[in-house]
Amino acid sequence: MKSFTFHIPVQLFCGELLSYQKEFAGIGSKALIITGKSSAKNGSLNDVLQILSGSSVEHVLFDKIEENPSLETVDTAAELAKKEGIDFIIAIGGGSPLDAAKAISLLVKNKHLKAKDLYTPMNIKGFPMIAIPTTAGTGSEVTPFSILTIHEKKTKQSIANNIFFDKAFLDGRYMMDLPENYTLSTALDILSHLVEGYLTSKVNFLSDRIAESGFLAYGKLFPNLLNRDFNLEVRNNLLCVSSLAGMVITHSKTSLPHQLGYFLTYNHHVPHGFANTVLIAEFMKFHQDKDKVNTILQLLGVKNLEELRSIINSLIVFDFKITKEEIVEYSQLAFNNKSRLTIHPYPIELQDIVTIFERSLLK
Ligand code: NAP
Ligand code: FE
Repeated sequence: MKSFTFHIPVQLFCGELLSYQKEFAGIGSKALIITGKSSAKNGSLNDVLQILSGSSVEHVLFDKIEENPSLETVDTAAELAKKEGIDFIIAIGGGSPLDAAKAISLLVKNKHLKAKDLYTPMNIKGFPMIAIPTTAGTGSEVTPFSILTIHEKKTKQSIANNIFFDKAFLDGRYMMDLPENYTLSTALDILSHLVEGYLTSKVNFLSDRIAESGFLAYGKLFPNLLNRDFNLEVRNNLLCVSSLAGMVITHSKTSLPHQLGYFLTYNHHVPHGFANTVLIAEFMKFHQDKDKVNTILQLLGVKNLEELRSIINSLIVFDFKITKEEIVEYSQLAFNNKSRLTIHPYPIELQDIVTIFERSLLK
């Protein structure tokens, strides 16, 4: 067995948030709440405010995190937090607020830095952080990654400084009104994390065993996803599998579909989960480790790659157009990022990327 380290320093609390009030004590005296608009409607923000109001902890609210948060938004929130003298962060929402919170935490603690500086690896730490995910997909509550939109580069990229949440609370009740398209997109993000995280050059014994248990649990949810049956138990199960998949990619990273999917999100507004998963079947077909690909299919409980492709296609509820020229342009950009390509365990040619794109997207 190759040597490896395994590190997930996040405490997870599953169940009703209000039953964990005492877990909020002692973290800090003034919180920055980082969120988008939906937390004010789904009950999560109210519950957090209720918990804080029962303590002496003060708070400042920043609720302007957009989908696929930009460097500019992160800088704006960090400036507010610096002025307000906060000493911990509570992130509520999907992957966008959670990822933004990680970068903001680093910027508030290291006051001389701007968001763009976080793309240079440094030995820096952030303030303590709590996560309350309200989508089940990114696993951001257990990963150390913060993926931000760089408008200058017309794409998204993870910052170069890892940072974990200290505590995360998984309460599926906040997702009961998550619209169908976001529910499906985020649920498919989980699948892409499991598949990609099982097939990179960075896998280790534990990440593979976690991924395998994730495939087994995920396959059991296919009927619910296909029937659009999103009851509370399904929501909570999706949240847990999302965290499992997050633990996988924390160690083994994501692969080509995520790298390529960022171009689809930036240029064609394809929701993150759909953007990766639309490429997954072709990516699996292209992958040389056929034993692992077969294990994925077996554990998911599908007969073959074509059945998986057909399930995925019926879960992707988003249509967009792309030209051959755009495919070549994005493929070239991805191919130029040589260090990112080493995450794939086998050599990749430009034509391989073009082929994965074309077979997945050109009907
Ligand atoms: P999101 O961008 O956080 O949210 C998508 C939409 O859903 C937003 O409009 C949001 O509204 C709404 N929403 C969120 N929770 C809701 C709820 N409970 N009820 C109703 N509406 C709700 O989507 P996401 O897919 O969770 O996150 C995507 C981001 O995460 C991308 O930037 C992606 O690159 C990143 N990501 C990170 C990792 C990682 O390891 N860190 C992994 C994969 C992806 P509001 O925003 O207005 O609240
Ligand atoms: Fe993802």
